[in-house]
Amino acid sequence: MGLVVQKYGGSSVADAEGIKRVAKRIVEAKKNGHQVVVVVSAMGDTTDELIDLAEQVSPMPAGREFDMLLTAGERISMALLAMAIKNLGHEAQSFTGSQAGVITDSVHNKARIIDVTPGRIRDSLDRGNIAIVAGFQGVSQDKKDITTLGRGGSDTTAVALAAALDAEVCEIYTDVDGVFTADPRVVKKAKKIDWIAFEDMLELAASGSKVLLHRCVEYARRYNIPIHVRSSFSGLQGTWVSSEPIEQGDKKVEQAIISGVAHDTSEAKITVVGVPDKPGEAAAIFRTIADAEINIDMVVQNVSAASTGLTDISFTLPKTEGRKAIDALEKNKGGIGFESLRYDDQIGKISLVGAGMKTNPGVTASFFEALSGASVNIELISTSEIRISVVTRADDVPEAVRAVHTAFGLDSDTDEAVVYGGTGR
Ligand code: ADP
Ligand code: ASP
Ligand code: MG
Repeated sequence: MGLVVQKYGGSSVADAEGIKRVAKRIVEAKKNGHQVVVVVSAMGDTTDELIDLAEQVSPMPAGREFDMLLTAGERISMALLAMAIKNLGHEAQSFTGSQAGVITDSVHNKARIIDVTPGRIRDSLDRGNIAIVAGFQGVSQDKKDITTLGRGGSDTTAVALAAALDAEVCEIYTDVDGVFTADPRVVKKAKKIDWIAFEDMLELAASGSKVLLHRCVEYARRYNIPIHVRSSFSGLQGTWVSSEPIEQGDKKVEQAIISGVAHDTSEAKITVVGVPDKPGEAAAIFRTIADAEINIDMVVQNVSAASTGLTDISFTLPKTEGRKAIDALEKNKGGIGFESLRYDDQIGKISLVGAGMKTNPGVTASFFEALSGASVNIELISTSEIRISVVTRADDVPEAVRAVHTAFGLDSDTDEAVVYGGTGR
């Protein structure tokens, strides 16, 4: 029996009852002979509540203090979980990210893990304890400040520890039975996927399927750590995310042509209006954005109107970075040379993901037909080898997701997807 890393999300530990239920599950794994490392998120919507609180005292809180505040959420749940396990007669010790050896760069609010030195976790396990680690946080290598890994970052903590400790598997426990062909909160007829390759899961995660975070899947692929996404509320098998298909009976599970439909309403669109159509302009805009440490997603540039020689450039970025991006562009307005900026946060993105797209003609046409059938207007389009994404009005997203899901034959004709908890916030 080897070492397992189990991660429990906020909805699984939303209240005292949840913490006690999860504690029992952890103790079961220990009784089955495993060494168990648990990564835990903040209880319920605690992180959102802390963010709301910060905004009430300061519109743009300093990154260092913001991280100090947010990491408190995970500290509460890790200590309570350790207490609940001890109460069941088993030994457990809780550790902050810093104590667990999660070393990051110093970019507050979205730090990257650069090293994991889990010496204290190993010692604790060797002494027979269950080790509980606060997810979503680390300590910066140079300044030794407390950092956070970005929203949903506990998934990344779990996979990073699994890699550093050479775990057999990283189990991600959440409030649905696994990864589905669409968000079960939007599509009741979404189907659970038994196995999905890292490649497809990476695209789904990057396109907004928040059941797993993109960085966590990237990390798992790099170190080849199999992930098992499952519910903490049921005993069912969930979804395996790995490089090789799993066996079912004596057959290997087939790679699906279309893995699923993802949606994302966390982005905004900035349009830089009246940009001179000459070399170096796009470079100046995106250098400004990059220097502000902002990641962008989609980009489109219109053909310039011949009479003016001016063009518009639009791009999407996380809403949380909107203010910073506008400020940075305004500051460099003279240097870049543009007329004005437009900010639109009422957009949504819908993506269809599947490795089969490479070899099946007509996928793009069917995707656009489904959207037109649902009377959804398309504002931006981007594609990769295995993904097509469009930007639409945010209000159109649920209907568009359902239309595309049905058009690609993904609807289940038997069960309805179960959502066990969480508020979907
Ligand atoms: P946790 O609190 O466990 O981290 P999250 O809220 O981060 O949970 O992720 C689980 C949620 O992800 C589900 O409740 C579901 O609404 C959402 N989700 C989005 N896309 C998918 C998908 N394709 N399959 C399963 N869940 C999805
Ligand atoms: N508590 C953090 C968040 O809500 C991290 C996590 O849950 O993964 O984003
Ligand atoms: Mg999550």
